[in-house]
Amino acid sequence: MDTIDVVIVGAGIIGCSTAFELSKLGLKVEVIEKHKPGAMGSGWTLAGVRQSGRHESEIPLAKYSVKEWFTLSDKLDGKTLYKQEGNLRLARNEDEDKRIKNLVKEQKSNGLEIEYLSSSKEIRDVCPSLSSKIISASYCPTDGHADSKETLSSYVDAGKRNGVIFSDNEEVLEISCINNKINSIKTTKRVISCKFCILANGIFCNKILKTIGKKIPLEIPIVTVIQTEKTAKLLKPVIGVANASLAMRQENNGYFRISSGFQDWNGNLKLKNDMPYAETTLEKIQSTINQSIEVIPELKNCSIKSFWGGLIDLTPDALPVIDYVSECEGLIVASGFSGHGFGIAPAISGIISDLILNKKTRLPINSFTLHRFQNQNILNSDKYDLTLHG
Ligand SMILES: Cc1cc2nc3c(=O)[nH]c(=O)nc-3n(C[C@H](O)[C@H](O)[C@H](O)COP(=O)(O)OP(=O)(O)OC[C@H]3O[C@@H](n4cnc5c(N)ncnc54)[C@H](O)[C@@H]3O)c2cc1C
Repeated sequence: MDTIDVVIVGAGIIGCSTAFELSKLGLKVEVIEKHKPGAMGSGWTLAGVRQSGRHESEIPLAKYSVKEWFTLSDKLDGKTLYKQEGNLRLARNEDEDKRIKNLVKEQKSNGLEIEYLSSSKEIRDVCPSLSSKIISASYCPTDGHADSKETLSSYVDAGKRNGVIFSDNEEVLEISCINNKINSIKTTKRVISCKFCILANGIFCNKILKTIGKKIPLEIPIVTVIQTEKTAKLLKPVIGVANASLAMRQENNGYFRISSGFQDWNGNLKLKNDMPYAETTLEKIQSTINQSIEVIPELKNCSIKSFWGGLIDLTPDALPVIDYVSECEGLIVASGFSGHGFGIAPAISGIISDLILNKKTRLPINSFTLHRFQNQNILNSDKYDLTLHG
Protein backbone atom coordinates (compact mmCIF):
# COMPACT_ATOMS: atom_id res chain seq x y z
CA MET A 1 0.00 0.00 0.00
CA ASP A 2 1.30 3.54 -0.86
CA THR A 3 1.85 5.82 2.13
CA ILE A 4 1.50 9.58 1.77
CA ASP A 5 1.34 12.40 4.37
CA VAL A 6 -1.40 14.36 2.60
CA VAL A 7 -3.71 13.19 -0.16
CA ILE A 8 -5.55 15.99 -1.95
CA VAL A 9 -8.66 15.01 -3.89
CA GLY A 10 -9.05 17.21 -6.99
CA ALA A 11 -6.59 19.24 -9.06
CA GLY A 12 -8.51 22.49 -9.35
CA ILE A 13 -7.05 25.78 -8.16
CA ILE A 14 -7.78 24.87 -4.52
CA GLY A 15 -6.13 21.44 -4.70
CA CYS A 16 -3.10 22.64 -6.71
CA SER A 17 -2.46 25.79 -4.64
CA THR A 18 -2.78 23.78 -1.43
CA ALA A 19 -0.37 21.13 -2.74
CA PHE A 20 2.18 23.86 -3.45
CA GLU A 21 1.80 25.39 0.05
CA LEU A 22 2.13 22.01 1.73
CA SER A 23 5.12 21.01 -0.36
CA LYS A 24 7.01 23.93 1.21
CA LEU A 25 6.53 22.27 4.60
CA GLY A 26 8.44 19.21 3.47
CA LEU A 27 5.38 16.95 3.52
CA LYS A 28 4.85 14.10 1.09
CA VAL A 29 1.84 15.29 -0.91
CA GLU A 30 -0.14 13.60 -3.67
CA VAL A 31 -2.94 15.18 -5.69
CA ILE A 32 -5.39 12.72 -7.20
CA GLU A 33 -7.45 14.00 -10.12
CA LYS A 34 -10.22 12.15 -11.92
CA HIS A 35 -9.41 13.86 -15.24
CA LYS A 36 -6.67 16.50 -15.64
CA PRO A 37 -5.83 19.66 -13.66
CA GLY A 38 -8.40 22.39 -14.33
CA ALA A 39 -10.94 19.94 -15.75
CA MET A 40 -13.90 21.56 -13.98
CA GLY A 41 -14.55 24.88 -12.17
CA SER A 42 -10.96 26.08 -12.46
CA GLY A 43 -10.99 25.60 -16.21
CA TRP A 44 -14.55 26.86 -16.83
CA THR A 45 -13.95 30.02 -14.78
CA LEU A 46 -13.82 33.69 -15.71
CA ALA A 47 -10.81 34.04 -13.35
CA GLY A 48 -11.65 37.39 -11.82
CA VAL A 49 -9.62 38.26 -8.71
CA ARG A 50 -12.17 40.25 -6.84
CA GLN A 51 -12.65 41.63 -3.34
CA SER A 52 -15.70 43.75 -4.16
CA GLY A 53 -19.13 42.19 -3.97
CA ARG A 54 -17.96 39.57 -1.49
CA HIS A 55 -19.59 38.69 1.81
CA GLU A 56 -17.88 40.46 4.73
CA SER A 57 -16.43 37.18 6.00
CA GLU A 58 -14.63 36.61 2.67
CA ILE A 59 -13.19 40.12 2.39
CA PRO A 60 -10.13 39.44 4.62
CA LEU A 61 -9.37 36.37 2.48
CA ALA A 62 -9.78 38.37 -0.72
CA LYS A 63 -7.56 41.22 0.54
CA TYR A 64 -4.88 38.77 1.65
CA SER A 65 -5.07 37.01 -1.71
CA VAL A 66 -4.69 40.22 -3.71
CA LYS A 67 -1.38 40.86 -1.94
CA GLU A 68 -0.31 37.31 -2.75
CA TRP A 69 -1.34 37.58 -6.43
CA PHE A 70 1.19 40.38 -6.90
CA THR A 71 4.12 38.10 -6.17
CA LEU A 72 2.60 34.73 -7.05
CA SER A 73 4.21 34.47 -10.44
CA ASP A 74 7.67 35.00 -8.86
CA LYS A 75 6.94 32.52 -6.08
CA LEU A 76 5.84 29.89 -8.58
CA ASP A 77 8.49 30.83 -11.11
CA GLY A 78 5.74 30.64 -13.72
CA LYS A 79 3.03 32.74 -15.34
CA THR A 80 -0.28 33.82 -13.80
CA LEU A 81 -0.93 36.81 -16.11
CA TYR A 82 -2.38 38.57 -13.07
CA LYS A 83 -3.36 42.18 -13.70
CA GLN A 84 -4.78 44.64 -11.24
CA GLU A 85 -7.13 46.44 -13.63
CA GLY A 86 -10.15 46.94 -11.39
CA ASN A 87 -13.72 45.70 -11.26
CA LEU A 88 -16.76 47.67 -12.37
CA ARG A 89 -20.20 46.53 -11.29
CA LEU A 90 -22.83 48.23 -13.42
CA ALA A 91 -26.36 49.51 -12.86
CA ARG A 92 -28.55 49.40 -15.94
CA ASN A 93 -31.73 50.76 -14.31
CA GLU A 94 -32.96 52.50 -11.14
CA ASP A 95 -33.38 49.24 -9.22
CA GLU A 96 -29.82 48.21 -9.97
CA ASP A 97 -28.61 51.69 -9.06
CA LYS A 98 -30.09 51.24 -5.55
CA ARG A 99 -28.26 47.91 -5.22
CA ILE A 100 -24.98 49.44 -6.32
CA LYS A 101 -25.34 52.33 -3.84
CA ASN A 102 -26.01 49.86 -1.01
CA LEU A 103 -23.14 47.63 -2.09
CA VAL A 104 -20.67 50.53 -2.07
CA LYS A 105 -21.86 51.73 1.34
CA GLU A 106 -21.64 48.26 2.86
CA GLN A 107 -18.28 47.42 1.33
CA LYS A 108 -16.75 50.75 2.34
CA SER A 109 -17.80 50.02 5.90
CA ASN A 110 -15.92 46.72 5.55
CA GLY A 111 -12.77 48.69 4.78
CA LEU A 112 -12.70 48.14 1.03
CA GLU A 113 -11.40 50.76 -1.38
CA ILE A 114 -14.51 51.12 -3.55
CA GLU A 115 -16.16 54.10 -5.24
CA TYR A 116 -19.64 54.90 -6.48
CA LEU A 117 -19.51 56.28 -10.03
CA SER A 118 -22.68 58.25 -10.57
CA SER A 119 -22.51 59.25 -14.22
CA SER A 120 -21.88 57.74 -17.59
CA LYS A 121 -18.89 60.07 -18.02
CA GLU A 122 -17.19 58.84 -14.82
CA ILE A 123 -17.82 55.22 -15.84
CA ARG A 124 -16.54 55.72 -19.38
CA ASP A 125 -13.45 57.47 -18.08
CA VAL A 126 -12.59 54.10 -16.50
CA CYS A 127 -13.82 52.01 -19.43
CA PRO A 128 -14.57 53.91 -22.67
CA SER A 129 -16.15 50.96 -24.50
CA LEU A 130 -19.11 50.73 -22.10
CA SER A 131 -22.56 51.80 -23.30
CA SER A 132 -23.67 55.32 -22.42
CA LYS A 133 -26.89 53.71 -21.11
CA ILE A 134 -25.12 52.47 -17.96
CA ILE A 135 -26.35 54.81 -15.25
CA SER A 136 -23.97 54.10 -12.37
CA ALA A 137 -21.35 51.64 -11.18
CA SER A 138 -19.21 50.52 -8.27
CA TYR A 139 -15.51 50.64 -8.98
CA CYS A 140 -12.86 48.77 -7.04
CA PRO A 141 -9.48 49.65 -8.57
CA THR A 142 -7.57 47.01 -6.59
CA ASP A 143 -9.56 44.12 -8.08
CA GLY A 144 -8.25 42.38 -11.17
CA HIS A 145 -7.98 39.13 -13.07
CA ALA A 146 -5.57 36.36 -13.98
CA ASP A 147 -5.34 33.51 -16.46
CA SER A 148 -6.68 30.28 -14.99
CA LYS A 149 -4.84 27.91 -17.34
CA GLU A 150 -1.45 29.57 -16.85
CA THR A 151 -1.94 29.93 -13.08
CA LEU A 152 -2.93 26.32 -12.65
CA SER A 153 -0.04 24.96 -14.69
CA SER A 154 2.37 27.21 -12.77
CA TYR A 155 1.05 25.80 -9.49
CA VAL A 156 1.38 22.24 -10.81
CA ASP A 157 4.93 22.79 -12.11
CA ALA A 158 6.05 24.49 -8.87
CA GLY A 159 4.48 21.71 -6.82
CA LYS A 160 6.22 19.04 -8.91
CA ARG A 161 9.58 20.77 -8.45
CA ASN A 162 8.98 20.52 -4.69
CA GLY A 163 8.17 16.82 -4.95
CA VAL A 164 4.35 16.82 -5.15
CA ILE A 165 2.98 13.80 -7.02
CA PHE A 166 0.12 14.55 -9.43
CA SER A 167 -1.87 11.49 -10.41
CA ASP A 168 -4.33 12.22 -13.21
CA ASN A 169 -7.09 10.01 -14.62
CA GLU A 170 -7.60 8.40 -11.22
CA GLU A 171 -10.79 8.83 -9.19
CA VAL A 172 -11.02 8.76 -5.41
CA LEU A 173 -13.93 6.50 -4.56
CA GLU A 174 -14.09 6.48 -0.78
CA ILE A 175 -12.24 7.25 2.40
CA SER A 176 -11.76 5.01 5.35
CA CYS A 177 -11.85 6.36 8.91
CA ILE A 178 -10.79 4.07 11.73
CA ASN A 179 -11.35 5.11 15.37
CA ASN A 180 -12.49 8.57 14.15
CA LYS A 181 -9.23 9.10 12.28
CA ILE A 182 -8.44 9.08 8.57
CA ASN A 183 -6.73 5.85 7.68
CA SER A 184 -6.71 5.44 3.92
CA ILE A 185 -8.40 6.35 0.69
CA LYS A 186 -9.50 4.03 -2.07
CA THR A 187 -9.18 5.07 -5.70
CA THR A 188 -10.03 3.42 -9.00
CA LYS A 189 -6.46 2.10 -9.03
CA ARG A 190 -5.28 1.49 -5.45
CA VAL A 191 -5.54 2.07 -1.71
CA ILE A 192 -3.35 4.81 -0.21
CA SER A 193 -2.61 5.13 3.48
CA CYS A 194 -2.46 8.78 4.62
CA LYS A 195 -2.35 11.06 7.68
CA PHE A 196 -4.45 13.82 6.09
CA CYS A 197 -6.94 13.99 3.25
CA ILE A 198 -8.21 17.25 1.77
CA LEU A 199 -11.45 17.23 -0.18
CA ALA A 200 -10.98 19.86 -2.88
CA ASN A 201 -13.17 18.17 -5.43
CA GLY A 202 -15.72 20.91 -6.02
CA ILE A 203 -19.22 19.81 -7.00
CA PHE A 204 -18.38 16.17 -6.20
CA CYS A 205 -17.36 16.64 -2.56
CA ASN A 206 -20.54 14.94 -1.32
CA LYS A 207 -19.74 11.76 -3.25
CA ILE A 208 -16.81 11.26 -0.88
CA LEU A 209 -18.35 12.81 2.24
CA LYS A 210 -21.32 10.46 2.04
CA THR A 211 -18.99 7.50 2.51
CA ILE A 212 -18.64 8.70 6.12
CA GLY A 213 -22.25 9.85 6.46
CA LYS A 214 -21.65 13.61 5.97
CA LYS A 215 -23.01 16.07 3.45
CA ILE A 216 -22.81 19.73 2.44
CA PRO A 217 -26.17 21.03 1.15
CA LEU A 218 -25.26 21.98 -2.41
CA GLU A 219 -27.23 23.26 -5.37
CA ILE A 220 -25.51 22.92 -8.72
CA PRO A 221 -26.56 25.64 -11.14
CA ILE A 222 -24.89 26.19 -14.51
CA VAL A 223 -23.31 29.35 -15.85
CA THR A 224 -23.11 29.82 -19.63
CA VAL A 225 -19.74 31.05 -20.86
CA ILE A 226 -19.01 32.44 -24.32
CA GLN A 227 -15.51 33.04 -25.55
CA THR A 228 -15.11 35.39 -28.51
CA GLU A 229 -12.37 35.39 -31.10
CA LYS A 230 -9.53 37.85 -30.54
CA THR A 231 -10.58 41.45 -30.74
CA ALA A 232 -9.04 44.88 -30.21
CA LYS A 233 -8.48 45.87 -26.58
CA LEU A 234 -11.90 47.04 -25.42
CA LEU A 235 -11.81 46.20 -21.74
CA LYS A 236 -9.38 46.40 -18.85
CA PRO A 237 -11.47 45.97 -15.68
CA VAL A 238 -13.59 42.91 -15.04
CA ILE A 239 -17.26 43.77 -15.57
CA GLY A 240 -20.23 42.57 -13.55
CA VAL A 241 -23.79 43.80 -13.26
CA ALA A 242 -25.80 44.58 -10.15
CA ASN A 243 -28.14 41.58 -10.43
CA ALA A 244 -25.26 39.16 -11.23
CA SER A 245 -26.79 38.10 -14.56
CA LEU A 246 -23.64 38.91 -16.55
CA ALA A 247 -19.88 39.13 -16.06
CA MET A 248 -17.02 39.52 -18.50
CA ARG A 249 -13.36 40.15 -18.92
CA GLN A 250 -10.99 40.44 -21.82
CA GLU A 251 -8.14 38.00 -21.66
CA ASN A 252 -4.54 39.01 -22.24
CA ASN A 253 -4.57 37.67 -25.77
CA GLY A 254 -7.71 39.61 -26.79
CA TYR A 255 -10.39 36.91 -26.33
CA PHE A 256 -13.44 37.91 -24.29
CA ARG A 257 -14.90 35.55 -21.70
CA ILE A 258 -18.54 36.43 -21.14
CA SER A 259 -20.57 34.60 -18.53
CA SER A 260 -24.25 34.51 -17.62
CA GLY A 261 -25.78 34.46 -14.17
CA PHE A 262 -26.76 31.20 -12.48
CA GLN A 263 -29.20 29.15 -14.53
CA ASP A 264 -30.91 25.83 -13.84
CA TRP A 265 -28.84 22.84 -14.91
CA ASN A 266 -30.38 19.69 -16.38
CA GLY A 267 -27.92 17.52 -14.41
CA ASN A 268 -26.37 16.02 -17.52
CA LEU A 269 -22.56 16.02 -17.30
CA LYS A 270 -20.97 14.49 -20.40
CA LEU A 271 -17.44 13.76 -21.51
CA LYS A 272 -16.02 15.65 -24.51
CA ASN A 273 -12.42 14.88 -25.51
CA ASP A 274 -12.18 13.00 -22.19
CA MET A 275 -13.02 16.14 -20.21
CA PRO A 276 -16.25 16.83 -18.30
CA TYR A 277 -18.63 18.96 -20.33
CA ALA A 278 -21.91 20.55 -19.18
CA GLU A 279 -24.18 21.48 -22.05
CA THR A 280 -25.84 24.85 -22.23
CA THR A 281 -28.67 25.88 -24.59
CA LEU A 282 -29.14 28.32 -27.48
CA GLU A 283 -31.58 30.28 -25.33
CA LYS A 284 -29.02 30.69 -22.54
CA ILE A 285 -26.33 31.65 -25.03
CA GLN A 286 -28.65 34.13 -26.74
CA SER A 287 -29.65 35.92 -23.54
CA THR A 288 -26.01 36.14 -22.45
CA ILE A 289 -24.96 37.60 -25.81
CA ASN A 290 -27.86 40.10 -25.80
CA GLN A 291 -26.93 41.35 -22.35
CA SER A 292 -23.26 41.65 -23.26
CA ILE A 293 -23.99 43.76 -26.35
CA GLU A 294 -26.20 46.05 -24.26
CA VAL A 295 -23.21 46.65 -22.02
CA ILE A 296 -20.45 46.87 -24.68
CA PRO A 297 -22.10 47.66 -28.04
CA GLU A 298 -18.93 46.94 -30.03
CA LEU A 299 -19.16 43.28 -29.06
CA LYS A 300 -21.80 42.85 -31.76
CA ASN A 301 -18.96 42.70 -34.31
CA CYS A 302 -17.09 39.87 -32.55
CA SER A 303 -17.14 36.25 -33.70
CA ILE A 304 -17.70 33.40 -31.28
CA LYS A 305 -14.73 31.11 -30.70
CA SER A 306 -16.26 28.74 -28.20
CA PHE A 307 -18.91 28.30 -25.52
CA TRP A 308 -19.41 26.00 -22.54
CA GLY A 309 -21.34 25.50 -19.35
CA GLY A 310 -19.63 25.93 -16.00
CA LEU A 311 -21.08 24.20 -12.93
CA ILE A 312 -21.17 25.92 -9.56
CA ASP A 313 -20.87 24.28 -6.11
CA LEU A 314 -23.40 26.59 -4.47
CA THR A 315 -23.96 26.37 -0.71
CA PRO A 316 -27.07 27.83 0.97
CA ASP A 317 -25.19 30.98 2.09
CA ALA A 318 -22.89 31.08 -0.95
CA LEU A 319 -19.85 30.69 1.33
CA PRO A 320 -17.39 27.79 1.17
CA VAL A 321 -16.73 25.05 3.69
CA ILE A 322 -13.17 25.16 5.01
CA ASP A 323 -13.13 22.93 8.03
CA TYR A 324 -12.00 19.77 9.72
CA VAL A 325 -14.51 16.96 9.79
CA SER A 326 -14.75 16.39 13.52
CA GLU A 327 -15.85 12.75 13.13
CA CYS A 328 -12.72 11.91 11.12
CA GLU A 329 -9.48 13.45 12.38
CA GLY A 330 -7.19 14.39 9.51
CA LEU A 331 -10.01 14.96 7.01
CA ILE A 332 -10.38 18.56 5.82
CA VAL A 333 -13.09 19.90 3.49
CA ALA A 334 -12.33 22.80 1.14
CA SER A 335 -15.28 22.89 -1.22
CA GLY A 336 -18.48 24.81 -1.95
CA PHE A 337 -16.80 27.96 -3.28
CA SER A 338 -20.14 29.00 -4.81
CA GLY A 339 -18.75 30.61 -7.97
CA HIS A 340 -16.03 32.78 -6.45
CA GLY A 341 -13.19 30.53 -5.30
CA PHE A 342 -10.58 31.34 -7.92
CA GLY A 343 -9.46 34.73 -6.62
CA ILE A 344 -9.16 33.64 -2.99
CA ALA A 345 -7.16 30.44 -3.62
CA PRO A 346 -3.91 31.93 -2.21
CA ALA A 347 -5.64 32.59 1.13
CA ILE A 348 -7.38 29.21 1.18
CA SER A 349 -4.17 27.29 0.58
CA GLY A 350 -2.44 29.22 3.39
CA ILE A 351 -5.34 28.51 5.74
CA ILE A 352 -5.29 24.80 4.94
CA SER A 353 -1.58 24.63 5.63
CA ASP A 354 -2.28 26.26 9.04
CA LEU A 355 -4.96 23.62 9.72
CA ILE A 356 -2.55 20.82 8.82
CA LEU A 357 0.05 22.27 11.20
CA ASN A 358 -2.66 22.59 13.87
CA LYS A 359 -1.95 26.33 14.13
CA LYS A 360 -4.39 29.19 14.59
CA THR A 361 -5.42 30.02 11.03
CA ARG A 362 -3.89 33.21 9.59
CA LEU A 363 -7.40 34.47 8.76
CA PRO A 364 -10.72 33.80 10.50
CA ILE A 365 -12.72 30.85 9.17
CA ASN A 366 -15.58 30.72 11.66
CA SER A 367 -18.10 31.53 8.89
CA PHE A 368 -16.97 28.52 6.86
CA THR A 369 -17.71 25.64 9.23
CA LEU A 370 -19.26 22.39 8.07
CA HIS A 371 -21.77 22.23 10.90
CA ARG A 372 -23.36 25.65 10.14
CA PHE A 373 -25.88 24.04 7.81
CA GLN A 374 -27.42 21.84 10.44
CA ASN A 375 -31.10 22.75 10.96
CA GLN A 376 -31.06 25.14 8.00
CA ASN A 377 -33.52 25.12 5.17
CA ILE A 378 -31.79 24.78 1.85
CA LEU A 379 -32.12 27.59 -0.64
CA ASN A 380 -35.25 29.63 -1.17
CA SER A 381 -36.68 30.83 -4.45
CA ASP A 382 -34.51 33.92 -4.97
CA LYS A 383 -31.43 31.76 -4.37
CA TYR A 384 -29.38 32.66 -7.43
CA ASP A 385 -29.70 36.37 -6.78
CA LEU A 386 -27.84 36.10 -3.50
CA THR A 387 -24.38 35.73 -4.86
CA LEU A 388 -22.15 37.41 -7.37
CA HIS A 389 -19.59 35.63 -9.47
CA GLY A 390 -16.99 36.87 -11.90
C1 LIG B 1 -18.23 30.18 -15.31
C2 LIG B 1 -17.54 30.43 -14.01
C3 LIG B 1 -17.03 31.69 -13.74
C4 LIG B 1 -16.35 31.92 -12.54
N1 LIG B 1 -15.78 33.13 -12.32
C5 LIG B 1 -15.04 33.32 -11.21
C6 LIG B 1 -14.34 34.53 -11.02
O1 LIG B 1 -14.37 35.42 -11.87
N2 LIG B 1 -13.62 34.68 -9.87
C7 LIG B 1 -13.57 33.72 -8.92
O2 LIG B 1 -12.92 33.93 -7.89
N3 LIG B 1 -14.21 32.54 -9.09
C8 LIG B 1 -14.92 32.33 -10.21
N4 LIG B 1 -15.55 31.14 -10.41
C9 LIG B 1 -15.46 30.11 -9.39
C10 LIG B 1 -14.10 29.42 -9.39
O3 LIG B 1 -13.68 29.16 -10.70
C11 LIG B 1 -14.22 28.15 -8.58
O4 LIG B 1 -14.73 28.46 -7.28
C12 LIG B 1 -12.88 27.47 -8.43
O5 LIG B 1 -12.23 27.31 -9.66
C13 LIG B 1 -13.13 26.12 -7.79
O6 LIG B 1 -11.91 25.48 -7.66
P1 LIG B 1 -11.87 24.08 -6.92
O7 LIG B 1 -10.45 23.67 -6.91
O8 LIG B 1 -12.61 24.17 -5.62
O9 LIG B 1 -12.78 23.10 -7.80
P2 LIG B 1 -12.60 22.55 -9.28
O10 LIG B 1 -11.80 23.45 -10.13
O11 LIG B 1 -13.96 22.18 -9.76
O12 LIG B 1 -11.73 21.25 -9.07
C14 LIG B 1 -12.23 20.05 -8.55
C15 LIG B 1 -11.50 18.92 -9.23
O13 LIG B 1 -11.80 17.72 -8.55
C16 LIG B 1 -11.86 16.68 -9.50
N5 LIG B 1 -12.61 15.58 -8.89
C17 LIG B 1 -13.91 15.54 -8.57
N6 LIG B 1 -14.21 14.40 -7.94
C18 LIG B 1 -13.06 13.68 -7.86
C19 LIG B 1 -12.72 12.41 -7.31
N7 LIG B 1 -13.65 11.66 -6.70
N8 LIG B 1 -11.46 11.97 -7.42
C20 LIG B 1 -10.50 12.75 -8.03
N9 LIG B 1 -10.78 13.96 -8.56
C21 LIG B 1 -12.03 14.43 -8.47
C22 LIG B 1 -12.53 17.31 -10.71
O14 LIG B 1 -12.26 16.62 -11.90
C23 LIG B 1 -11.94 18.72 -10.68
O15 LIG B 1 -10.81 18.85 -11.52
C24 LIG B 1 -16.23 30.87 -11.59
C25 LIG B 1 -16.77 29.61 -11.86
C26 LIG B 1 -17.39 29.38 -13.07
C27 LIG B 1 -17.92 27.99 -13.37
